[in-house]
Amino acid sequence: MFKKNQTFTIEIQDIGSNGEGIGRIDGYTLFVKDAIPKDVVRIKITKANKNFGFAIIEEIISPSDDRVEPVCPVASKCGGCRIQHLSYQKQLEYKENIVKNNLERIGKAKDFVLHKIIGMDNPYFYRNKAQYPVRRGRDGQILMGFYAGRTHSVIETERCYIGTKENEKVLEIVKKHMEEYNIEPYDEVNHRGLVRHILIRKGFATGEIMVCIVINGRDFPNAENLVSKLLKIQGMADISLNVNTEKSNVILGKKIINLYGNGYITDMIGDVKFQISPLSFYQVNPVQTAKLYETALKYAGLTGEEIVWDMYCGIGTISLFLAKSAFKVNGVEVISEAIENARNNAKINGIGNVEFFVGKAEEVLPEYYEEQERSGGKGEADVIVVDPPRKGCDVRLCETIVKMQPERIVYVSCDSATLSRDVKYFEENGYRLREVQPVDMFPMTEHVETVVLIQKRHM
Ligand code: SAH
Repeated sequence: MFKKNQTFTIEIQDIGSNGEGIGRIDGYTLFVKDAIPKDVVRIKITKANKNFGFAIIEEIISPSDDRVEPVCPVASKCGGCRIQHLSYQKQLEYKENIVKNNLERIGKAKDFVLHKIIGMDNPYFYRNKAQYPVRRGRDGQILMGFYAGRTHSVIETERCYIGTKENEKVLEIVKKHMEEYNIEPYDEVNHRGLVRHILIRKGFATGEIMVCIVINGRDFPNAENLVSKLLKIQGMADISLNVNTEKSNVILGKKIINLYGNGYITDMIGDVKFQISPLSFYQVNPVQTAKLYETALKYAGLTGEEIVWDMYCGIGTISLFLAKSAFKVNGVEVISEAIENARNNAKINGIGNVEFFVGKAEEVLPEYYEEQERSGGKGEADVIVVDPPRKGCDVRLCETIVKMQPERIVYVSCDSATLSRDVKYFEENGYRLREVQPVDMFPMTEHVETVVLIQKRHM
């Protein structure tokens, strides 16, 4: 039996789905934090279950050739960049393999074309959004940083090597302001204190910056003064408070109090302009998003005649990207602020052949389809695009998609395990997985984005 605190020397053989190294002792599997294949390491067991355990590195005895020095000094503590110590080339190979393995093992798919993953030329400073938790440190200082992996202790990191340079300036100003007016950071345990998170977003194409301070209250001391200080940062376009008085892990509350600006910033992907509110989802890596959407457009195979549904449409990014090549695009999204953005985005781009619906994908599409059935209409869809959160598509949505019999399903996914589960459903119901394009939207992390083409089988 293996026990906590035992140490061993092992060679790492594999990488797990959370980016950890995998090694074995007599068939017992150990998940080793920050280790990579071909590292020989002395490890210490931190948790021993019956058939597998977790460990940390005590010493690297002989490093793998694929090991690199992380640029960020807190890379191994911060929960954000779990594989910064792996060479970028190997990160890409690792992600391509995860996608392939999941589609084959979970999805039971065969004979699909797996394209080479699209990587970045410069895999740093790519994120347009950061959410910094704000807490009080042990020595009484105000901490702003990121959560350590798996826990809510905050690792102080005002400079993030995958974020933008303005983040630091924003944090410095907010921190000074909090000190000057004795404003308390949030305390998760006692549910006291005011400042919970600082959300910063930048439009890379326009340079516009948004700051949203999430507070456990309704009011922020000397807010006008903070606004005037933040406005010294070039590009500052929108400043707001978000009220979140819930005792919960969810970062944003529902209510926004605008302090400066129009309630949104504007950005562009390709030649389409987007207004983005603090509560709306927007892809975090704009350089790769353009490539992702280009691939989605290609897989949609549009000729100008098609009726397209864009499920989980957010602020209408994919809908508007496809609209120019389709007859009509219908977008569905659960966050009403995002749909408000989407409708406006259609307007400011002069796009008329789109319609947006607020609601759950798994309710709106089935209701639409049943209504069409009742009234003798056909509930048509030539192409259905889905871009769900990590948990994938609800089965009710998958069932309706199959009933509607679109020629093509374009599935954009940020979790290849749930993608594969849904691919299996479509494969069992008259569809075939044809093409797979992984895109590295999140360099230095274990996450990978994938867009796939699923086509109707013709007997
Ligand atoms: N396609 C968009 C957004 C993708 S992110 C883009 O590329 O920008 C996933 C979106 O799904 C988020 O906007 C989220 O608010 C929304 N969402 C989550 N659950 C949903 C559900 N059950 N029905 C509809 N939308 C949902």
